[in-house]
Amino acid sequence: MLQSYDSCIKCSLCVAACPVYEVDRTFAGPKALGPDWIRIYESGERVTDPTVEACTFCQLCEAACPVGVPVAHLIAKHKEAKTRSLAVRIRDYGLTHPDWLARLPEVTLLPKVLAKAALISTKPRWPRPDRSRWTANGAGNSVGVWVDCYTRGFDGHVLAATLGLLDAWGFSGIPLPKRSACCGAAAMASGRLHGAKQAESSARSELPEISKKLAVLVTLNATCDATLRSEWQPPLEFEIVPFVEFALAAAGDDFFDLLATARGEANVYAHATCRSQVARGPGAMAELCKRSGIEAIPLDASCCGAAGSYAFKREHEKISRTLGSLATATIAGSSSSTVLVDSGPCALHLADLSGARVLHPAVWLYQRFNEAGGVGVDNP
Ligand code: SF4
Ligand code: SF4
Repeated sequence: MLQSYDSCIKCSLCVAACPVYEVDRTFAGPKALGPDWIRIYESGERVTDPTVEACTFCQLCEAACPVGVPVAHLIAKHKEAKTRSLAVRIRDYGLTHPDWLARLPEVTLLPKVLAKAALISTKPRWPRPDRSRWTANGAGNSVGVWVDCYTRGFDGHVLAATLGLLDAWGFSGIPLPKRSACCGAAAMASGRLHGAKQAESSARSELPEISKKLAVLVTLNATCDATLRSEWQPPLEFEIVPFVEFALAAAGDDFFDLLATARGEANVYAHATCRSQVARGPGAMAELCKRSGIEAIPLDASCCGAAGSYAFKREHEKISRTLGSLATATIAGSSSSTVLVDSGPCALHLADLSGARVLHPAVWLYQRFNEAGGVGVDNP
């Protein structure tokens, strides 16, 4: 349970857990930027720390705190209090509306040189539009599937694979929301707290009447999952479950026994994103692999440095790529390997830095299902 900043006992466990502090000692760290800062700020001294923007909002500090100080959320407030240049404000406004980009993903095909003036990094690989066709067939028990804006614009095949698997397990997936909408995660991470509330309210208005009758909402992105479950107030009526956990609960032994007969790799690398480590722990992906007859080797990384739009901000190039290189060091020399991660931006970042095949677990499962002779639609 989260407590007030007054509860801070100055143990510095949050600092020890911070991946940014680990690679950049000019970063003031979570204790100084969170509870220490707000104490000073609320006493009337309106100062902010210039290094606060380097926080990725991974929330690992918050998870490490033994007394429940909402460290990352205090840092988000700190970011909000900081004065930013007009250029940064415009850039951040754009990047905290990923649903806009998802409506016109071809924008990412524009020459990168145009990005420089907008303070966008030209170093990371940019996402490619993916307009894979996906349909829900309407048979079986209905479950909602949260189509985050990144999946909608750039990972349509992930949704197609998910719907195919749900069908195979006897469910009908209902993609939500009706139109591209952002859950607010990007705005929260950038310290645009008002923007996060606006995004939430706009996304809520895109939930159709039928969603009120659903018992479960399956999420495809670990960050959106944590945002929908922990940040939205009041909470949604239905249970929110990440895809991997839904697969473990809903796919029967027959499905996993069939997968174990598929040819291919004996092991895969698995990365639990920082937000899923905080919200759910690291174990579900390994369990999914094990039940599929494959060993999962965890990447030795807490946060890979993608952090939604973080890797695309010019000022974060160094930290983002350093964190990503630490993550991909585990697979150095195995660039033909498969890495599983349930976040589109993290997958893009890890593939860019390692050259490895980085897949969403739904796509990996679906491909193995087809290789093993499972019945389904065309391989996404
Ligand atoms: S949210 Fe993550 S990056 Fe930010 S201070 Fe906490 S641990 Fe460090
Ligand atoms: S871990 Fe919690 S109690 Fe310890 S210094 Fe950080 S905020 Fe304070």
